[in-house]
Amino acid sequence: MNTGVLGGGALGLTVAYRLANAGDKVTVIERETEVGGLAAGFLVGDSGTYLEKFYHHIFKTDTTIEALIKELGLGDKLEWLRPVTSMWVGGKAVQLDSPVAVLKYKPLSLFSRFRLAAGLAYLKLEGNYHRLERVTAAQWVKKWMGKPAYDKVWGPQLAGKFGAVADTIVASWLWARIKDRTTQLGYLHGGFQQIYNRLAEGIRAKGGEIMLGETITSIASLPDGKVAVKLQDGRELTFDRLVCTFPSRLFVKLAEGLPADYAAKYNWGQAYGAHCLILALNQQVIARTYWMSILEPNYPFLAAVEHTNLIDRAEYGGSRLLYLGNYLPMDDALFSKTGEQILEEYTPYIKKLNPQFDRSWVTQVYSWQAAYAQPVVTVEFKDHIPPHDTPLPNVYLANMFQVYPHDRGQNYSIEMGNELAARLIAEAKG
Ligand SMILES: Cc1cc2nc3c(=O)[nH]c(=O)nc-3n(C[C@H](O)[C@H](O)[C@H](O)COP(=O)(O)OP(=O)(O)OC[C@H]3O[C@@H](n4cnc5c(N)ncnc54)[C@H](O)[C@@H]3O)c2cc1C
Repeated sequence: MNTGVLGGGALGLTVAYRLANAGDKVTVIERETEVGGLAAGFLVGDSGTYLEKFYHHIFKTDTTIEALIKELGLGDKLEWLRPVTSMWVGGKAVQLDSPVAVLKYKPLSLFSRFRLAAGLAYLKLEGNYHRLERVTAAQWVKKWMGKPAYDKVWGPQLAGKFGAVADTIVASWLWARIKDRTTQLGYLHGGFQQIYNRLAEGIRAKGGEIMLGETITSIASLPDGKVAVKLQDGRELTFDRLVCTFPSRLFVKLAEGLPADYAAKYNWGQAYGAHCLILALNQQVIARTYWMSILEPNYPFLAAVEHTNLIDRAEYGGSRLLYLGNYLPMDDALFSKTGEQILEEYTPYIKKLNPQFDRSWVTQVYSWQAAYAQPVVTVEFKDHIPPHDTPLPNVYLANMFQVYPHDRGQNYSIEMGNELAARLIAEAKG
């Protein structure tokens, strides 16, 4: 089989690696100049160490990525840690990352803390997310955890992530976040990029090709059952079968000859872009806390993540690394600003986190952005998740918009990649 895989992120590379190992002639086509997609890293300064463009860690429940890490010979680099997660509220960091921390969470009354704890325990134990599919997270939290828990904990977090549409997010999305997340976090020393580099090496070793810096502009079925894709410069490549890992809406835009009802059903919904400003620093901005969700209104970023409170800064040539992250509609003005402009706008707010902060602490500014980075998972979302089979023969769609009810995550893309590859291998064997 001559198989094309569109997208060199976690999903595309996993499918391609499995198919290449099963004997397919695989070609991966990726727009960026490196593999890894949303989980890709860059080399920090001259440390030779990768850091993710967008903050990444894994949870204890992420067993599929853990298995892949071990399979690729990277198991000794995976470390499980127990960092501090806090909320920035009332001008200070308040730890909120365990049942004990919930019960000590001063911004809520004792009664509200118990309601919050009971609601969280229910979500952890509930096995059937379908019970939470018809109601929004805002409605569910207000009813079962109480309005104070919504106003002081969940509302600001949902607003930070989803802005104006925060109140439309479905409760099953919240269920999955609580269910899937653990206090222990895993990090791959040297960066998750190493997984994707190893997958790419493995694909090449089996005779596969990884085409980087190539943008797909159309996908079409040919009369003989083969599939043709066009590249930005007009070149056309033909495959026996094609796996597309692009967002569903992008697939609908690029694929020719789709039935109108399919296009209408799946060219649907909103996704936000992601932005991370990463500061390399010679001083620590946030003491102790690794992950800090900003619950105060009107901050220009929703999370401040001091990566070097998780991983030793010695791994990055001694630099401290701070992410300031955002999810925003893809046409937001932030996406057209330079890192320096954004730093200037953020500086008064960084000073609120640490009044001593000074521009001279910053040794390097990195600004990263990506489109289609966060699906807006509303109550109707589940009715607009396309199946892997598409109306185009031998064309399969697999993407992170299909991992519902889970939030996106490398683990779920890798799991989907494993499952789809196993199916395609079995079908090819007949
Ligand atoms: C801010 C942020 C934080 C995150 N935090 C975590 C975390 O802590 N832990 C975790 O596990 N996951 C996290 N994730 C999610 C994780 O990164 C994704 O779930 C995973 O990387 C998705 O992989 P994918 O292959 O499904 O999609 P993608 O990585 O999006 O891959 C799709 C690929 O297609 C390419 N492409 C798109 N259009 C074209 C085109 N026209 N032509 C050619 N190529 C194209 C893209 O460049 C991309 O490489 C985070 C994501 C973001 C944005």
